[in-house]
Amino acid sequence: MAGTALGAVQMQESRQKKSYAGYKLIRTEPLNNMEAVETLMTLDGHNGVHFWTFPKQNLTTDILTSPGTEMHVRDLLNNLGLSHNVVIEDVDELLKTENPDLPEGSLDPKQGAGHRMTWQKYHRYADIVNWATFLRDRDPMVKVESIGKTHEKRDIIMLKISKSGGGSKPAIWIDGGMHAREWISPATVTYIANKLVTNNKRQYDDLLEMFDWYIVPVVNADGYEFTHTGDRFWRKTRSGTGNIYCKKGVDPNRNWDFKWGSSGSSKDPCSDIYAGPRAFSESETQSMSQKILQLRSQLKMYLTFHSYSQLWLIPYGYSKYEKPADYNELVRLASQGKAALERTYGTRYQMGTAPDLLYEAAGGSDDWAKGVAGIKYSYCLELRDTGRYGFALPASQIVPTGEETMNGVAALARSLATKLGLKAAPKTDLLEEY
Ligand SMILES: [Zn+2]
Repeated sequence: MAGTALGAVQMQESRQKKSYAGYKLIRTEPLNNMEAVETLMTLDGHNGVHFWTFPKQNLTTDILTSPGTEMHVRDLLNNLGLSHNVVIEDVDELLKTENPDLPEGSLDPKQGAGHRMTWQKYHRYADIVNWATFLRDRDPMVKVESIGKTHEKRDIIMLKISKSGGGSKPAIWIDGGMHAREWISPATVTYIANKLVTNNKRQYDDLLEMFDWYIVPVVNADGYEFTHTGDRFWRKTRSGTGNIYCKKGVDPNRNWDFKWGSSGSSKDPCSDIYAGPRAFSESETQSMSQKILQLRSQLKMYLTFHSYSQLWLIPYGYSKYEKPADYNELVRLASQGKAALERTYGTRYQMGTAPDLLYEAAGGSDDWAKGVAGIKYSYCLELRDTGRYGFALPASQIVPTGEETMNGVAALARSLATKLGLKAAPKTDLLEEY
C-alpha cells in the first residue's frame, strides 16, 4: 500500500516538474561597462531567463537560457559587444545524473545507519528532519527545535549540539539552504552536524567541549522541496507576491533588515533577487533572526552556506565602500579556515567582501548578523564549484565538499577558541590510551 501511494506521488511530481530540455548555460566574457550590467539585469526573471551568477562589472556572468530565449539572449549579448560561450550544453543531461538513485535497500534505515541520510545523494526535507530526530533520540547532547514555520507551514528545524546542555558556552551558528537550488548547502551543513555529533575518531572532542553549536540545515524548506518537485532551479521562498505574472517568491538573502532594499536587490517580484515588500516579510528570515537575537550573547560566530563560486565572503555585502572596522581581523581568522579547507583537496577559494568578489548585495543574513546582531565573526561561504556544474553539482561531490568544508570549519573554530582564550579540558579517556 505504502509503495503504491509513494509511486503515485512520485508520478504526479514528475508530471508537474519543470523540464529543462534544451536549456543551456551561457557564460559571457567579463562585463566591460555598466551599460552591459544594467541591460543584462533587466532580463532577470523575465521570459524564462535566469542568472546563475548575477551581472557585475569586470566579471563573467552565467545565464541559463531556454530553447525559446537562447537566440534572444545571444543577440542581446552580440549587440552589447559581449562574446560568450556555452559552458553547459545540455542542462537536462546533468539533471539526469546529478542525483542518482541508490541501490535497492541502501536507504532502509533498518539496514543502514538508522536514518535515510547517506551523503551519497541529495535528500528530501523529510529525510533531513528524520535524521535530525534520530541524532536527538540517540545522543543526549543533541536537541532539535522548530524555530518557526515556513510559509507552507513546514518546521524550520534547528539542531542544538551542546555537551553541557546549558547554553552558557560560546556558540557557533551554522545555516544552510537559504537559496533553494543550492543543494550542496544543506548537504554540507548536515554533513558537518553529523560529523560533530558522531565524532567517530574523537577528533572533534575539543570543539564540542569549547562550543555549543546551533545548526539550521534548511532555512528555506519550502523552496528546497519545490526544487525536488516543481522546478530544480528555484531560488526564492514560496510566499505570495501579489503580482499576476510572478506569483511567488522572495529572495530570503535580500530580505534581512540591515540596509534592506538598497544595492544589489530588486523591487521586481519577477526578479530572482526580489527583496520582498519589506524587510523580514518572510517567515523564514523573521523566525531565524528572532532565534539569533535570542542567542546573541552566546553567539561568537555566524556561518551561512551558499553555492556556487568557491568564495569566502566577509561583510559587508551591501556596499563596496563600507568595510567593518575589524575587517582585517575577520580576514586573519578566516584565513586559517580557508587554508585548512584548501589543503584537503586543493579546492581554491577566494576571500573578500561580496562587492570585491561578486556584486553588492544588500539584505543578506551575514551582513545582518554582524551589523545588527553584533556577532563579530560573520562569514558567508559560496561552496563548490566554479561553474562546471554550477547548481547541478553531482551528488558524488557531497562527501569531498563536506570533508573539506568540515576541515575549514574546524580550523576556523579552533582559531576562534584561541582568540577567545578558550581551552578544551584535557582528555579524560586515558584508559583508551594505555
Ligand atoms: Zn545563495
